[in-house]
Amino acid sequence: ESNVEPRPIKRLNETLINRIAAGEIIHRPASALKELIENCLDAGSTSIKITVKDGGLKLLQIQDNGHGIRKADLPILAERFTTSKLSSFSDLSRIATYGFRGEALASMSHVAKLSVTTKTKKDGHAWKATYSDGMLVPAKPGQTADPKPSAGNDGTIITIEDLFYNTPTRLSALRSSSEEYARILDVVTKYAIHNSKVSFQCKKAGSASPEVTTPPNATIPQAIKLLYGHTIANDLLHVAVGPSATTSEVEPDDSMDVDEDEDDDGPSAEDNVKSGPWKAEVHFTNANYQAKKTNFLLFINHRLVESSRMKRAVEAVYVSILPKGASPFVYLSLHVHPKNLDVNVHPTKREVHFLDEDTITERICSAMQATLAKQATSRTFETQT
Ligand code: ADP
Ligand code: MG
Repeated sequence: ESNVEPRPIKRLNETLINRIAAGEIIHRPASALKELIENCLDAGSTSIKITVKDGGLKLLQIQDNGHGIRKADLPILAERFTTSKLSSFSDLSRIATYGFRGEALASMSHVAKLSVTTKTKKDGHAWKATYSDGMLVPAKPGQTADPKPSAGNDGTIITIEDLFYNTPTRLSALRSSSEEYARILDVVTKYAIHNSKVSFQCKKAGSASPEVTTPPNATIPQAIKLLYGHTIANDLLHVAVGPSATTSEVEPDDSMDVDEDEDDDGPSAEDNVKSGPWKAEVHFTNANYQAKKTNFLLFINHRLVESSRMKRAVEAVYVSILPKGASPFVYLSLHVHPKNLDVNVHPTKREVHFLDEDTITERICSAMQATLAKQATSRTFETQT
């Protein structure tokens, strides 16, 4: 029996609730940047430019040339659960945008100073707004909080300053600004590869030479070559897998150029998985490429996700191909029907679940295996003649 008196239960105040929730979405500068990049892509941008100071802790700025934000929407932009992307629960099963929870900008405004400069095509000039704790605030003391006319091109500039200024424990848990910058570059690199039609730039403030630059309208192998170097590109193989007859149902306005190469053995009984149509595109290294650690880029329905199960399966493909201790580079883009993909598992959407994961993984891995084996035999053949 406890002799401790129960303490009264009290309602947390709104600001505290929001700050706790924000910490679940914004773990570090790179997680803020992921949300910001996704917003730019959702806005149809073809150019995304990122500027970083102090690993993103002092400044994280992202400029896009997307559709912009209507001036009338600026007052509620940084409120929690305000979004232009989702209006009913059933929308969730056909969501085509990265965002839908309307939490990212709100979260940032609770753990940093957030400002937004935006211009739609219809606007004669840009508008600038500053936010704190979900609300519009004056940019400078003595000013009013409402959006101010500003110079600016079509599109949006989002500026995050002094990230975690009000959550000192989070701030002290982050090791160094160089580590944070490395994580930022990792996020930018992965999105730049998957969105190879969009031009990306990422640099430190005041620097003339960006760490990442990609041109618009590149192919995925071109982007891989640019960002991971020529050696990798020379050793790159490609397969497209999936029930080809039904691929168009997966993604009606398909922008992926799926090669109809001879490795694709067409629709077969095992393609008729419960989950219906699916397809995968894989760019992966051959036996000549030997890295210390596996570099596995996984996108499911365009979302950058992690799956230790799929990673292990892909690594197993290389067991008989690479010497012990050597690892491959694998870019895998999988499309499943949106109704079979649950993205609402976690606020960061990092974790996703989809139907028939095992069957689909197996099909992808055996296609990779076949291509690797075929290349190995043709190489032996070439050296023999
Ligand atoms: P979500 O993306 O889930 O809707 P966010 O908090 O990330 O939530 O963004 C809230 C809203 O702000 C979006 O729905 C969108 O209308 C607008 N928005 C955010 N960033 C941009 C951007 N870069 N360009 C245009 N609109 C944007
Ligand atoms: Mg968003």
